[in-house]
Formats: sequence, structure tokens, C-alpha cells
Amino acid sequence: MKIKLKLTIVIVALLTVINSANAQTNTAPIMSSTPVEMLFPQGKPKALILSFDDGNVSDRHLVKLMNEYGLVGTFHLNSNKLGTKDYLTKDEIKKLYKGHEVSGHTSNHPSLTTLSKVDVIYEVLEDRKELERLTSYPVRGMSYPFGNTNDFVIEAISGLGIEYARTVGDTYNFSMPVDMLKWQPTIHLFGKTNYIPNDTANDSRELAQFYQLTTDFLKVNSLALFYVWGHSWEYEGPGNKWAEVEKFFKMVSQNPDIYYTTQIGLTDYMNAFKNLKFSVDKSMVTNLSSIDVFVKINGKAFTVEAGSTKQLN
Ligand SMILES: [Zn+2]
Repeated sequence: MKIKLKLTIVIVALLTVINSANAQTNTAPIMSSTPVEMLFPQGKPKALILSFDDGNVSDRHLVKLMNEYGLVGTFHLNSNKLGTKDYLTKDEIKKLYKGHEVSGHTSNHPSLTTLSKVDVIYEVLEDRKELERLTSYPVRGMSYPFGNTNDFVIEAISGLGIEYARTVGDTYNFSMPVDMLKWQPTIHLFGKTNYIPNDTANDSRELAQFYQLTTDFLKVNSLALFYVWGHSWEYEGPGNKWAEVEKFFKMVSQNPDIYYTTQIGLTDYMNAFKNLKFSVDKSMVTNLSSIDVFVKINGKAFTVEAGSTKQLN
């Protein structure tokens, strides 16, 4: 018995030494540094956001066109202007924007960088509150009136339930937002003609630049976000751009490689991706959200279903 016990102790001791040696060789960060790339829903490589400000009556025609082409948009509204001249009425908001996103743009459209902190908070929260009453869902994003913002404004809106805020600083590229409260769009949809009318050279330049970017977006195969913003009222008047708007909608519609999304839709998706819980060696991942998330690791694509744990081998 004593010999057997001694032998057992020796074997256990030997195994411990072997295991610890293995453990030491295995603790190197073999997989932990492997990058995890986000893909858009259904594994799509590109996303399109169409975002329009102010809630002008011309949104009626714009939404009609978007619905015809199966496109979705985000509409940033000034709730206190609704019902006044050239603005939509409050009672049409819910029905008109069905299937699209209604988002904030402050109650009265002031330049937030000129206001006191309490006035910034009032403008943003009052707008949220009224738009939520009109739409019957939480309004969680906004665009800055005139695109104006700074660190003071961002500090003031932090904690007000605003999860993204768009500026007007066009990037002319397809990058993902870095700071969600300083979200820069790709390009203004035919804005210049309205501000510089009767300038055909300028008009041609703007159209050429816009269609070049659209063509580039349709060709690209890596992760690309095309964020187009504007105002429906810019397409009225002497420099009428409705035919161009429709031409653009036709170019980008019905494309199986494009994820058509609202801004809050993409925000929620990005948050679901950021909240994925990976094991140390990246062989497993848990998705706690209610959204299916699509990732690429070592060149291989995976679907991580909502509320599930996935083995990635
Ligand atoms: Zn505006």
C-alpha cells in the first residue's frame, strides 16, 4: 500500500510538472491579438444611410420617392417648428415616417454653440420629448442645427439619452464614425446648387463629384458606409433637383450588397458588435444583444445569433 501511495504521489507530481510546462507554452497570446472585423447584417460589405434635416413639407415628396425605391431614411425634426409655415404638421409625422427613423434636431433650430448649458439641454430634451409623443417610440439621436457643435455642447448633451449626433463636416469617404457624438457624413446631397443658384459650372462640378462617389461606393468591396445627408427643400426652386435625387435613388436601390439602415439602426448594430464577449483565445463568443451580429476572423465569416454563444473553430 505504501509503495502504491508513493508511486501515485510521484505520478501526480510528474503530471503537475508536465501540465505547468504545457500551460507555460500555451499562455502565449496566440489568438488574442487576432483582429475581429465587423461585417454589416447578413454579412454585407456596405451600408447606406440617408439623413434629412428640418421636417419641411417637401419631405412628403422625398419620403414618397424613398418608399417607391425601397429606401429607408433618418429624419431630424424641429418639433417646435412643426405646424408653422413650410413645415409638416404634427399629426402627419407618425404616418409619413412609418418605416423610417424620426430623430432630433432641437426644438427651435438654434446654433447650440451660442447657448448656455441649460438652454442646450432644454432644446435637446424638449425636442426628444415631443417627438417621442408624436412617434410613440424613444428618440435616441439627433443632428446639430447648422452642424454646429463643440466640446461644450457635447458635454451638455451627454447623459440626455442621445446616442449619436451628426455634424455637417463631409468626409467624402466611406469610413465608419469614430466619435458617435461627432458623426461626420460622407456628402451633402445636392446642397450647393441651392446656395449658389444659376452657376452651371458649380452645378456640374457638384453633380460630377456626387456621382463619382456613388459609383465608387457601388464598386467598393471592403467595409464601407455611404452617409448622404441633406434637406428636401433644397431640391425645389429654380435649380430643381428632384430628377437627380430620383436618379441617385435608382442607382443605390435593390442592391444585395447594401445594408439599408437608419442611423439608429446602424448605431444599435455597432453597439451589439462592440458588446460581443470573446473568450481569451477567441474560440468562443457570446452575443448578449437581440441583434444577430456578423463578424470576420482570419478571413472567415461567422454569424453570431442574438442571445447565443458561438464556437468559432
Ligand atoms: Zn437644420
